[in-house]
Amino acid sequence: MSKDFETVIGLEVHVELNTKTKIFCGCSTAFGGAPNTHVCPVCSGMPGSLPVLNKEVVHKAIAVGLALNCDITRNSKFDRKNYFYPDNPQNYQISQLYYPICRNGWVEITGDDGNPKKVRIHEIHMEEDAGKLIHDNFTGETYVDLNRSGVPLIEIVSEPDMRSADEVVAYLEKLRETIQYLGASDCKLNEGSMRADVNLSIRERGTEEFGTRTESKNLNSFRAIKRCIEHETARQTDAVVSGEGVTQETRRWDDEKGYSYPMRSKEDAQDYRYFPDPDLVPILVSQEWIDEIASEAPEFRDAKKIRYKEEYDLSDYDIDQITGEKRLADIFEGAVAEGADPKKAANWLMVETQRLMKETGTDADKLTFSPAHLASLIGLVDRKEINSSVAKTVFEAVFREDVDPEAYVKEHDLSMKGADGALEAAVKKAVDMSPKAVEDWKAGKTKAAGAIVGLVMREMKGKCDPAEVNRLISEELAKR
Ligand code: ADP
Ligand code: MG
Ligand code: ZN
Repeated sequence: MSKDFETVIGLEVHVELNTKTKIFCGCSTAFGGAPNTHVCPVCSGMPGSLPVLNKEVVHKAIAVGLALNCDITRNSKFDRKNYFYPDNPQNYQISQLYYPICRNGWVEITGDDGNPKKVRIHEIHMEEDAGKLIHDNFTGETYVDLNRSGVPLIEIVSEPDMRSADEVVAYLEKLRETIQYLGASDCKLNEGSMRADVNLSIRERGTEEFGTRTESKNLNSFRAIKRCIEHETARQTDAVVSGEGVTQETRRWDDEKGYSYPMRSKEDAQDYRYFPDPDLVPILVSQEWIDEIASEAPEFRDAKKIRYKEEYDLSDYDIDQITGEKRLADIFEGAVAEGADPKKAANWLMVETQRLMKETGTDADKLTFSPAHLASLIGLVDRKEINSSVAKTVFEAVFREDVDPEAYVKEHDLSMKGADGALEAAVKKAVDMSPKAVEDWKAGKTKAAGAIVGLVMREMKGKCDPAEVNRLISEELAKR
């Protein structure tokens, strides 16, 4: 009889905090600068330089901890994690081992059985990021860029509470939306502002004891995470069934090739010789500060979903999509506050916005158009000043350059409200020009009116309401 195995997964998630400056110096954290332009003696590890803690990092770490239901450590400190690697100029990373800033949290996800499930968080600690190595395949040389060295990170360590790839994705999605709503990070797996290491073991279903785990690194998309979990579960199951057993090791997932290989085993695991960082004073967090940070918490996605359902007549799917990105929710709420009909505002965000985002490769957090301009565009359509196809053109200009729709319509002469009687005159002219169509129409071929519609639209340069055109043509034909 074949045995039934269960997968056990715990995650270590690194999130880059979006403070303006680095964790221990005043250098910029901006991404994409020329190599080694955001560096100073502190973040390039010069002897004699001294780190000074950026308070904003602690602020954001506490905000995340509170949102993830953690206890905040009132008396916290930093430790040195010693290791040698060329992207780590000090030869140690400043991190937190003994007194992490947050502990004992949890988040609620939908479990595999469809019921709410709590995933417990063991701790969240603050640390600094390392630099980046750049390998030049042409010359065979390797360069180091220290712009990322000292960028603040939090590491969120879960308990081994997840049982499938779906639960892992639900957990990561929950972290992402919570931290994004807090404005503490954009949490993009593909850009490295969120990085997940998957610890996975298997055990016979019904047993208590955990099996030996592996840790998989280099997972930069939900797809890679899912495939890696499936692959690793199958690999460990084979190893257990064959009697070979699982080796505790760190593995690297190659998503292109769809397989993983060992990076280092427990035997060559490093001894980091942790010790308290003597250059940094302990961090004392007052209850007042914790309360103040708690009071700044925004309305999170779950609460928003419930409120949208109660207040607006939107489908669950639309609510899910709009609240899935804080920026979309902000634009939606802003447009509604400016008087836009919620359903119409949602529709622009669901259809044209998504289309243009795809076309231009724009992420939601990079959308620049203002809610007021979306509301104003919706108003122009409502008042029949522009028809729906002109509205799409105007929206594209709003999307790209945040133009003022009213001014844009005026400037480009797009209003349907042209000279009085222009449409009536165009209809009359078009009917006059189409004796054949009139004859056909009189003979009962109502479709013949279509040719006249085309003439009117051309005459009006598309700036008219098709329904109104149809109505006027029928009226005119009835007179003939
Ligand atoms: P270490 O200190 O060796 O990194 P931790 O206890 O910090 O180990 O655990 C690291 C991560 O591995 C945590 O997210 C934890 O939930 C997870 N983990 C621990 N044991 C197991 C296991 N047997 N199976 C799956 N995940 C595990
Ligand atoms: Mg660990
Ligand atoms: Zn610096």
